Amino acid sequence: MTWNPTTGCDKISAGCKFCYAELMTKRLKAMGQEKYKDGFELRIHNESLMIPYSWKKPKTVFVNSMSDLFHKDVPLSFIQDVFKVMNNNPIHTFQVLTKRADRLANINHLLTWTGNIWMGVSVEDSRVVERIDFLRGCSSLIKFLSCEPLIGPLVNLDLRGIDWVIVGGESGRKSRPMDENWVIDIMNQCNKTNVAFFFKQWGGKNKKAAGRLLNGKTYDEMPTLKLAKFSA
Ligand code: SF4
Repeated sequence: MTWNPTTGCDKISAGCKFCYAELMTKRLKAMGQEKYKDGFELRIHNESLMIPYSWKKPKTVFVNSMSDLFHKDVPLSFIQDVFKVMNNNPIHTFQVLTKRADRLANINHLLTWTGNIWMGVSVEDSRVVERIDFLRGCSSLIKFLSCEPLIGPLVNLDLRGIDWVIVGGESGRKSRPMDENWVIDIMNQCNKTNVAFFFKQWGGKNKKAAGRLLNGKTYDEMPTLKLAKFSA
């Protein structure tokens, strides 16, 4: 399930090169979808704020798959409105992912963090590892890294305070390759530090064929132990 109270974005680091949201936006605009009529320009959608109230069964929701909630052009008041919706809908788990970890850190104290909000940062290569420090300082119960698309090695990560790491390769015609050794190294770091490890996919030109086996196994760990402790 995705929920997009904002749409549109700007590229900020190498992980954005083949942005999925930009590609999808082009398609949705071409299909005449009103929400995407301005293409990839950042837009606020007040009308989308009520959507989670209509979901009656518990859902896991990826917030802003078509944008970045912490983009500089999203007003603080609107980010607070989005958080209010998440606070008011505790049956749903909201996963928020950003590349603007510095803004997240700057406004963290102005947001209300309920246990159903999982906060993550994208870490695609070693040039952006400082995002992990910004995330560590934020008040979400669950903190996660999305190392996707992984385009370089991530050695000696500081995983203190991090609960979950997702790794995935880039997919598409021009996708950049992901070295198996990078993935295994991240998995070993997670094992050493007791961080849940989720391997999403190898990606590549034919992501279905490439699959998601690592060492002949799937890795689908979730940060559930911490959640169980929280709700106990
Ligand atoms: S931050 Fe995310 S949505 Fe924005 S351009 Fe980069 S990949 Fe796309």
